Amino acid sequence: MTSHNQQLFDASQKVIPGGVNSPVRAFRSVGGTPLFFRRGQGAYVWDADGKQYTDYVGSWGPMIVGHCHPEVVRAVQDAAAQGLGFGAPTAAELEMAELLCKLLPSLEMVRLVSSGTEATMSAIRLARGFTGRSRIIKFEGCYHGHSDGLLVKAGSGALTFGQPSSSGVPAEIAALTTVLDYNDTPGLERAFAEMGKEVAAVIVEPVAGNMNLVTPKPEFLQALRKLCTECGAVLILDEVMTGFRVSLKGAQGHYGIKPDLLTLGKVMGGGLPAAAFGGRRDIMQCLAPLGAVYQAGTLSGNPVAVAAGLATLKLVQTEGFYDRLSKLAQQLTEGLTASAKKHGISFCAQSVGGMFGLYFSKSLPTSYAEVMACDKEAFNRFFHAMLDKGVYLAPSAFEAGFVSFAHTDADIETTVSAADKIFSSWK
Ligand SMILES: *Cc1c(COP(=O)(O)O)cnc(C)c1O
Repeated sequence: MTSHNQQLFDASQKVIPGGVNSPVRAFRSVGGTPLFFRRGQGAYVWDADGKQYTDYVGSWGPMIVGHCHPEVVRAVQDAAAQGLGFGAPTAAELEMAELLCKLLPSLEMVRLVSSGTEATMSAIRLARGFTGRSRIIKFEGCYHGHSDGLLVKAGSGALTFGQPSSSGVPAEIAALTTVLDYNDTPGLERAFAEMGKEVAAVIVEPVAGNMNLVTPKPEFLQALRKLCTECGAVLILDEVMTGFRVSLKGAQGHYGIKPDLLTLGKVMGGGLPAAAFGGRRDIMQCLAPLGAVYQAGTLSGNPVAVAAGLATLKLVQTEGFYDRLSKLAQQLTEGLTASAKKHGISFCAQSVGGMFGLYFSKSLPTSYAEVMACDKEAFNRFFHAMLDKGVYLAPSAFEAGFVSFAHTDADIETTVSAADKIFSSWK
């Protein structure tokens, strides 16, 4: 009998391109049939066939307190009962804005939006409006959502104009984006020497989590801050993934770097569509209706989404939350690394706060090129073998993984022993 997952996927492909509403869900990278989920509870999810998995994707980050935390569910139910949306201000938005500004000192003002894509796109328009410049710099392997100017890869030669990385992005738009190598401080210095005064903004993931996981070199972050300040460019830290994920103060707190603007999403929506961008007051005051940079949203600050976010952000402020989250991620990466070593497999892993990276390679990658050099086939085999054993990892070798506060030491041990069984017969 065909599985329910397969039946749903077959039917979906007739009415949804590729059968999915976001490409990575289609399992193209790892092969096979995507799982259709029916429900989640704590650290676990159940697919359409009723099979249970320990979840290390967590809706790509938002489920930091686990699925269906009773306090989050109650907050959503209470908010929904009061009205699903008004397209007018609510007190909950003020509470969210005040909380974000309190938790992240670099936020003097903030605006709520509905997705990370919207946050980064708006931050870039704002940086351009503020500086009166057009050029932006991004780094290869960093993902900032799918707006045109950010779907760009490096041209041939480091300082040439960017090339569209998606069909449908005009070359003229891509040409305004310069793409540099992550962690390449000399490359960054050269680019600024050449074009620093033309740069409106540099946008960067302070821990790269969309090319597997790559940690920033301290001197790279310092150079970013110094060069942007010297040239009057706006430094945008894209903390859509890292915000409230690597620490309560995000990656900016973890590494001690102060952005001019920052973007948030994922955890701050608690699983519902809420995101934000904000930063320096003088820059934020350029936004409509105060200033000339237009930005708007019918669903921005939606009360139900804000309620989910507020309930989640209340939970992450619990004493010891990030210590425990970090310890769980570390137990996982250390356990997997020890098992691979025992069986002589070329594998390593690392974590920052509640996010982690697994690599089939001898050493931890520090750039996009090094991530690409990892053994993708080995990851794909590992992914499917783990799936078989009830462990749901991100269905791609190029995504970070996530633990939640709902994971237990026993969950981590079970996952490590599942991997150990797989590694013991690895050829
Ligand atoms: C997920 C992500 C985005 C895009 O957010 P969406 O809500 O998917 O639009 C942007 N930047 C980073 C760093 C992300 O991880």
